[in-house]
Amino acid sequence: MQLFPAYCILLSMALTLRSQRAAAAAQSSAEEIVSIDALVKNRRVAQALSAAGELNAWSTEQQVRLTEVPAPTFQEGARAELVRKLLLESGLRPRVDSAGNVVAERPGNGRKDVVLLSAHLDTVFPAGTSVKVKKEGRRLEAPGISDNGAGLAALLCLARALHQAKVHTQSAIVFAANTGEEGEGNLRGMRKLVESYRNRLRAVIAVDGAATDHVTTVALASRRLEVILAGLGGHSWADFGMPNPIHALARGVSRFLATRVSENPRTTYNVGVIQGGSAVNSIPERALVKVDLRSESAAELDRLESALRKAVDAGVAEEMAAAKELGHGSDPRIELQIRSLGERPGGALPEGAALLAAVRQADCFLDNESRLELSSTDANIPLSLGIPAIAVGGGGRSGGAHSAAEWYDATGRDLGAKRLLLTVLAVAGVEP
Ligand SMILES: [Zn+2]
Repeated sequence: MQLFPAYCILLSMALTLRSQRAAAAAQSSAEEIVSIDALVKNRRVAQALSAAGELNAWSTEQQVRLTEVPAPTFQEGARAELVRKLLLESGLRPRVDSAGNVVAERPGNGRKDVVLLSAHLDTVFPAGTSVKVKKEGRRLEAPGISDNGAGLAALLCLARALHQAKVHTQSAIVFAANTGEEGEGNLRGMRKLVESYRNRLRAVIAVDGAATDHVTTVALASRRLEVILAGLGGHSWADFGMPNPIHALARGVSRFLATRVSENPRTTYNVGVIQGGSAVNSIPERALVKVDLRSESAAELDRLESALRKAVDAGVAEEMAAAKELGHGSDPRIELQIRSLGERPGGALPEGAALLAAVRQADCFLDNESRLELSSTDANIPLSLGIPAIAVGGGGRSGGAHSAAEWYDATGRDLGAKRLLLTVLAVAGVEP
């Protein structure tokens, strides 16, 4: 293993080129973490590192077991129970909280704060989807095998390696398999964890999927809204001119689609679901759309939401005016309701954060190259509150996430486990 790979040297050159303020921040953050040299000289840490490597086959076995227990968002209970049993084997005392998260606190010595290590339990696949794992050469194939079978397996591997090597940390480490990351779960599991540990959180590390090539440090903000229009309904011929919710919605949506969005910060929208009406010759009683708004900037997101609201209001007004022209008074009106289906707040880890320095020094030591990434993950919640957080993969290779063709290859899995271990321990601190 190289102690000073080229990447480390490049990184330190980049550091010297940064502004003084950033350098000062990096300096102070480096003081908050344990240096890689001190870490790997610690006998127990060295044992934990080799245990993490030796647990490869065990981790893959647990990943298959977990993947074969269905866990659609809002139905994570059975998989949570299996994680609870596995954490018990690592000398922990896991509990299930009111959000359905499995939570196990590994006490620290000396410090009252905690490093939260999480992996989400849920998958995007509805109940009834076959989750039987198939083996094709080095590949394991099944919906959810990587997202988040790989993350959960890495979490369990770490708990086991620390237990086997009897590592004592200064901060407590909380292991959590959380609910509600996917679909309309609205990050409910992570929200609950942050609420429970709010004042004690030193850092949050969310393990999501496979890979070791990225560190998510910027949380993409998103908002999901449902626009519902309701009217009286009627006969297409006899009641012609009566305000029509589908017409009003079509007018509003087409106005909204003319909204210009910023390229930098990148901002996007999508009308993903449209429903309404019951027969081709009836004026419908109801129409709805579900809209997804995303932006790198909270201000742009606010602007986009207000554009949507204005456009829909204008669409309704236009339809009412058309009805009036066709001889219908201001009654019956079209009722407009806009409902939030979920909100993921944005945020970013500062460049000089100790947590980022920790993962970077782990990457240097392991000769692993990674890039900073922007994404929407469980880390959104702590980042939005100014709590240091990242999302990283658990190691190995994967593809086809969120599709029936999802696969995982355990090649490089130990690199992921070691990277995670060194990062967690650098932040949590170790007892001699
Ligand atoms: Zn995921």
